Amino acid sequence: MINLEIPKKFVPLVGQAHQVAEEVFRPISRKYDAGEHEYPKELDMLAALIDGMNDGSDLGGAGAAGVRRTDNGDGGVRNGSNMSTVLGIIELCWGDVGLLLSMPRQGLGNSAIASVANDEQLERFRGKWAAMAITEPEAGSDSAAIRTTAVYDEATGEYVLNGEKIYVTSGERADLVVVWATLDRSLGRAAIKSFVVERSNPGLRLDRLEHKLGIRASDTAAFILDDCRVPRENLLGSPEVDVRRGFAGVMQTFDNTRPLVAGMAVGLTRACLELTQRLLAEAGVEVDYDRPAASQSAAAAEYLAMESDYEAARLLTLEAAWMADNSKPNSLQASMAKAKAGRTCVDVALRCVRLCGSLGYGEELLLEKWARDAKILDLFEGTQQIQLLIIARQLLGKSSAELK
Ligand SMILES: Cc1cc2nc3c(=O)[nH]c(=O)nc-3n(C[C@H](O)[C@H](O)[C@H](O)COP(=O)(O)OP(=O)(O)OC[C@H]3O[C@@H](n4cnc5c(N)ncnc54)[C@H](O)[C@@H]3O)c2cc1C
Repeated sequence: MINLEIPKKFVPLVGQAHQVAEEVFRPISRKYDAGEHEYPKELDMLAALIDGMNDGSDLGGAGAAGVRRTDNGDGGVRNGSNMSTVLGIIELCWGDVGLLLSMPRQGLGNSAIASVANDEQLERFRGKWAAMAITEPEAGSDSAAIRTTAVYDEATGEYVLNGEKIYVTSGERADLVVVWATLDRSLGRAAIKSFVVERSNPGLRLDRLEHKLGIRASDTAAFILDDCRVPRENLLGSPEVDVRRGFAGVMQTFDNTRPLVAGMAVGLTRACLELTQRLLAEAGVEVDYDRPAASQSAAAAEYLAMESDYEAARLLTLEAAWMADNSKPNSLQASMAKAKAGRTCVDVALRCVRLCGSLGYGEELLLEKWARDAKILDLFEGTQQIQLLIIARQLLGKSSAELK
């Protein structure tokens, strides 16, 4: 039998995350939206609390400890850290997406480390905050096109990185940046590897911070890598270039992180819906779940349609996380969840602004901010169009060369 309830063991975590969202995030949402690039110091105490817990993913974070795949051994099904992380993220993003992305030691680089690092690296990078640098001026959606190079220096046992990285979330604040670079451009995507670079490395130069439409509490950095020397022990995964396996290693991170971004979108969508339902009720529009939508007011019918999209996005997201917990290949479901949740979140946020009129558009409430925050969730970790492309390839059995 399918059980769609929140697993019992995660109920306390969902409650805690919701409390943090309501009592820590929401009250400072406006302040850090207005004070773009100002560090939300209130998060330090929260991060310390999370560090103090046995499982770093307890409050959700952005997946620092929540995405490693392990075999549960007994052949049974389980709800593990992917599920708990997604559930925590949904609640925290009901509070504020930008603040969730600003949580110390919970960056997407942490997810990459948690997913592919060996035991020695896991130990060495424990407790550090890691950003993720894939995107370059000439390589966004097509991450195989990256130009940053990594050349091995036999004499010193170091890799020397050169290139430019843009749009690095938490790039200014993190301790580490996980940088994607190619060992040999002529070998194509198989030669792309990820390297852990200390932020203090003199070869990693912060070029600028971006000004943005939404998630303004989260810092977004651009870097120049100029003869940046990295010890060979900082390469994540195998240094071999396996042209048969291609890109699979680094891309595997996305199967784990896309459900997390989908979770962010689900949380934000619910925030918009809840506030809108309350404002509609105050205006005398009650949503009746026992009557067909067609027999209710236009506003109530629209609300019901949005809620069904929200439910679909939420269930796809939980499915993708559940599959990751149970070591099932989930590329298709991760992309479906990300595509549906990202699209739903942008669509719902804008429709809620419209339904609420001037209350939706003004700064007195948070709806206008959420409408700005929503767009990024349909963009980073692969845009809407790229998710649809991945889904089409999987369903039609086509390779990335056959369907671009
Ligand atoms: C606030 C913010 C934070 C970010 N954080 C990070 C981060 O931490 N680390 C990181 O590495 N990157 C990060 N990014 C970068 C983000 O992942 C890229 O912006 C995204 O992958 C899209 O790349 P692009 O901007 O170069 O757009 P492009 O790839 O140039 O795409 C432009 C448009 O063309 C469409 N398109 C592209 N290819 C196809 C195709 N084959 N078929 C159909 N349509 C297509 C896209 O969907 C998009 O609509 C961040 C971006 C932002 C805005």
